[in-house]
Amino acid sequence: MSTTITVQDIAAARGCIRGRVRETMTVASPALSEITGGDIHLKLEQMQITGSFKLRGATNAVLSLTDEQKAAGVVGVSTGNHGRGLAYAASQAGVRCIVAMSELVPQNKIDGIKAQGAEVRIIGRSQDDAQVEVDRLVAEEGMTMIPPFDHPDIIAGQGTLGLELLDQMPEVETVLVPLSGGGLISGVAAALKARRPGIRVIGISMERGAAMYECLQAGKPVLVPELATLADSLGGGIGLENAYTFAMTRDLVDEVVLVNEAEIAQAIRHAYWQERQVIEGSGSVGIAALMSGKIETPGKCVVLVSGQNIDMKLHHRIISGEDVDVTQATSGEG
Ligand SMILES: *Cc1c(COP(=O)(O)O)cnc(C)c1O
Repeated sequence: MSTTITVQDIAAARGCIRGRVRETMTVASPALSEITGGDIHLKLEQMQITGSFKLRGATNAVLSLTDEQKAAGVVGVSTGNHGRGLAYAASQAGVRCIVAMSELVPQNKIDGIKAQGAEVRIIGRSQDDAQVEVDRLVAEEGMTMIPPFDHPDIIAGQGTLGLELLDQMPEVETVLVPLSGGGLISGVAAALKARRPGIRVIGISMERGAAMYECLQAGKPVLVPELATLADSLGGGIGLENAYTFAMTRDLVDEVVLVNEAEIAQAIRHAYWQERQVIEGSGSVGIAALMSGKIETPGKCVVLVSGQNIDMKLHHRIISGEDVDVTQATSGEG
């Protein structure tokens, strides 16, 4: 089996999901251009249906199932953006979807998944207990588990963002991509580098629990403790059995930059007051990297703004200038 996803796979995914996901706008940011001296643009993927790009991969994965698999349904464990995207993609395709989660998951997350059309199954007191139920549904009921990043159809679906971006701005020089498990950056980099090898692709993670960054340093997938962060959709490891995204990120991404909590909060504030956009912490890390001067000579640069699913009370506190510290809380998950 091939361990990489090609631009042909991504072009096919684009045809598959066309009309089922939004093409999101890319807009100039005079404010960020002024701050950095570059020519900065924002790809507003937080305006995607379900509030994040995860819908692209999930839609491609669901539509790529065989008829038999579709009839048996899909399962997931994510209570975050992947769970929402998968729930919506499945319900649009008329495919049954169960998202398993522990009883510790807050009600607003449960409601978010249900609102997109999935069944929620509450099992045990940890994510591991929820995983046991997923394994049972796969083994006993023939359902298909759709993982959040390390899967060819997911990577190809996320990569459609890269092709869309090239249509909108063929002369782009630098692209900033939020990085967690690496499904997004693997697909986007595969598309961009195949069409325009000179484009610089930079991954951005938070300092607190930068799993892919630590794995790249170690030269292999390693366990990285998950820590509470404003960029909660970037939490979690890349999986010790990682089959695709570690190698693709290592081979295709030029650099990984880390941002701290204060820089993330500042970027959320900037997005709101200067760009008039509501974005979640994970969606703001590219802006954070630019504002903190961590991107050398950005040139003609596109910042991928990946999601908007932030608790609006938390958002309100941040944009009001409150000194918000989430690092004592229990973390979320992607
Ligand atoms: C999942 C997610 C990411 C990271 O994507 P990976 O494929 O895991 O690297 C970035 N931003 C948001 C909003 C997400 O939901």
